[in-house]
Amino acid sequence: MHRLLFIFIAITWWHLSIAQPLYMPRDIKQAYKKGTRSFDGNPGKNYWQNRARYDITITAMPPDRNIKGTETITYFNNSPDTLLNPVIKLFLNIHKPGAPRNYGATEDYLTTGVQIDDLTVDGDKFNSPNNPGIFTWFGLHLSNPLLPHDSIRLTFDWHYTISEQSNREGMIDSTTYFLAYFYPRVAVYDDYNGWDRINFMDNHEFYSDFNDYTVTLNVPKNYVVWGTGTLQHPEKLLQPEILQRYNQSLTSDATVNIVTQENINAKNVTTQNDVNSWQFVANNIPDMAFGISDHFVWDGCSAVVDDATGRRAGAFAAYNDTAKDYHFVARYARHSLDWFSHKWPGVPYPYEKMTVFQGYAGMEYPMMANDETYSDTIRSRAVAEHEIAHTYMPFYMGINETRYGFMDEGWATTLELLIGREDVGVEKAEQIYKGFRIARWTHDPSSDQDIPIITPGDALTGGGFASNEYGKAALGHFAMMDLLGDELFKKCLQAYMDRWHGKHPIPWDFFYTFNNVSGQDLNWLWSNWFFNPNYIDLAVEKVDKTSSGYNLTIQNIGGMAAPVNVQISYDDGSADTLHQTPAIWKSDQKKTVVNITTKKQVRSIRLDGGIFMDADESNNGWNSQ
Ligand SMILES: [Zn+2]
Repeated sequence: MHRLLFIFIAITWWHLSIAQPLYMPRDIKQAYKKGTRSFDGNPGKNYWQNRARYDITITAMPPDRNIKGTETITYFNNSPDTLLNPVIKLFLNIHKPGAPRNYGATEDYLTTGVQIDDLTVDGDKFNSPNNPGIFTWFGLHLSNPLLPHDSIRLTFDWHYTISEQSNREGMIDSTTYFLAYFYPRVAVYDDYNGWDRINFMDNHEFYSDFNDYTVTLNVPKNYVVWGTGTLQHPEKLLQPEILQRYNQSLTSDATVNIVTQENINAKNVTTQNDVNSWQFVANNIPDMAFGISDHFVWDGCSAVVDDATGRRAGAFAAYNDTAKDYHFVARYARHSLDWFSHKWPGVPYPYEKMTVFQGYAGMEYPMMANDETYSDTIRSRAVAEHEIAHTYMPFYMGINETRYGFMDEGWATTLELLIGREDVGVEKAEQIYKGFRIARWTHDPSSDQDIPIITPGDALTGGGFASNEYGKAALGHFAMMDLLGDELFKKCLQAYMDRWHGKHPIPWDFFYTFNNVSGQDLNWLWSNWFFNPNYIDLAVEKVDKTSSGYNLTIQNIGGMAAPVNVQISYDDGSADTLHQTPAIWKSDQKKTVVNITTKKQVRSIRLDGGIFMDADESNNGWNSQ
């Protein structure tokens, strides 16, 4: 199957200036023909995307595991197409016995799934799709088609039992719940794939439109709700001293203990109604997620994320007081908001806050992260940074994570090293990175590790899938950064983010934007890293004496256009390192000659890739004797 992926197809309507076109699947070509995408990397003149308004009310009364919801969805069809069968996603049906999933399920993971109690379309009652054969999506057959530029109104009443086993969602403990993917939603209908009918099977993540949300959560007294969006009327929900500390955190660089263990013990955290209604509002955002607990402490602080306006964003942590590392997590989150806003990607953090909630997932949601507790705070910080980095991709950028997960995981994994180098120093950060992100790919000779990164993620499941999405894609970015230099790379990245935030970019939009903004044809490197079955294995073929020094011939056995450091030791005991960018592979990706200009006698040469780990280091050296 993947053999097809590296056959380059000459396309008659291709820009003449681009020498070597990137492989493009037939469905993607259609989008360029229709003008919804553009070869200069901008959204096309006919670009469109659909959106919706969600009004949701949820009732959660722990330790009762039954979660009840009602919602109204107003869905706007901005496409030029008449829609007959809107697709509705019910992600939590992955908990149903018999649901297709990447992993097995234990008893405490299984539930009866999402039970739809009532469903109306434009006021007309529809049969509830509680068929045991329906899993994470179903098609709604409309009697009146949804015309272009028209809207439709859907209402759902539903309930589900929260899963005892918690990962991206579920029960953290008997009175702490993490609610995510909990509401019926309209799937993405887009310009290159139509309706998103991919089953959610756990491994592959999500794809969401930008919608406006009002979510109200009814919970018992002394339960705090943390989540996506602006909390409405906190003064009606929190006890005065807690409200005062919450407000203080919004302008404080230092961490404020908003809810302490003493407050929890005194059972006087919230307004003492039997049931409190917590309402959150967020507009133009891809999803909403919430954590609720009656015994999590709450820390907060904030950072200026936009120097031009002085805008601050809140950094919060909600956790069990016994989790030692979590006492630092609000500070780590604040550092992330500050660093990502000012350094890489250097785009102001786009939301008003971020809450890191203690769970089991290592998972991102807009304005929320659900992270484990670790004994090693370097790990706690790195995981928080990774999940917070996801704010940009997939959320700000509207990535189709299911199909092109490398477009968000690859970026989070790139940002993870960039911030890590400043946190713990270059050497330590790269050592951790190599062990955690790269080594598995480097040392696994399985065929699926060589499958090109551009392969749709939903077509892959094994170790090669993880390498494509995380380490390989990140190294592809680092190779391009090495070629262009930090400044030009950042200019291209920021242009891509400026052009596509709030939209649905696909890989070609990213590659073409870099070509366009750099003014260079970079297709040879994109093609090498993202479209070909390459891996990293460089070898010293020979070293020849010349009149000005030496010629080092390097053979590229694995094919990847990786940068490399040529480490030279001289007979006089001195040493040099000559850094080679991927440019050495531009004209010939099999072999290159590096000129070493020196009057000294070279004793030995070694090729060191650094984070570009070499699969076979036995052929990386040369000695004069
Ligand atoms: Zn990630």
